[in-house]
Amino acid sequence: MKKNGKLFVIAGSSGVGKGTLLKLFLQKNPQIKLSISYTTRSPRPGEIDGINYFFTSKEDFQLAVKNNEFLEWAEFSGNYYGTKASYVEKTLAEGHHLILEIETQGALQVMEKFPNAEFIFILPPSLQDLEARLRGRGTETEDAIQKRLSAVKSELEVSKKFTHRIINDNIEIAVDELQKIFDKE
Ligand code: 5GP
Repeated sequence: MKKNGKLFVIAGSSGVGKGTLLKLFLQKNPQIKLSISYTTRSPRPGEIDGINYFFTSKEDFQLAVKNNEFLEWAEFSGNYYGTKASYVEKTLAEGHHLILEIETQGALQVMEKFPNAEFIFILPPSLQDLEARLRGRGTETEDAIQKRLSAVKSELEVSKKFTHRIINDNIEIAVDELQKIFDKE
């Protein structure tokens, strides 16, 4: 019997450069699959249905929720995003390693169902660095700076539930750290 693939879930603070990190990583590891999510948001210029996302209506999404088709789903910025359970199960059963790049609430749902998956949280450089950068820019109000810092503090709390944390300070180093996590498996 074929050995099952392993599931990796990547989440992280917004604007932390998860996308760029994953793109570089997948260029080096073309055998690893990246799950394609369902979303109700509209495609951005250049995005293709079935490649970047499966773009779907709110009605169809809600029907799939009702029919229990999602491994996880969440609302983010007024739109729904979700991962179909059947796709994940099939891909792993075929022996492929699979990455889900999803927001935090979805990742927490996957922890319940796949406790043996690897959960990786991408963090920005330290709070002090972030604060210095925000102040250095001089474009942010004190209120905006405090809001941003407190959002990062609560993300730091949630990130403790993840099996791995990567600080995306230097992109090359971050890609190497991600590589080490996969090479261990
Ligand atoms: P964007 O609209 O910028 O492509 O994605 C917004 C957020 O939704 C990102 O944090 C992304 O990781 C997350 N996301 C994308 N697909 C899924 C999914 O299937 N489930 C969940 N929970 N989040 C997703």
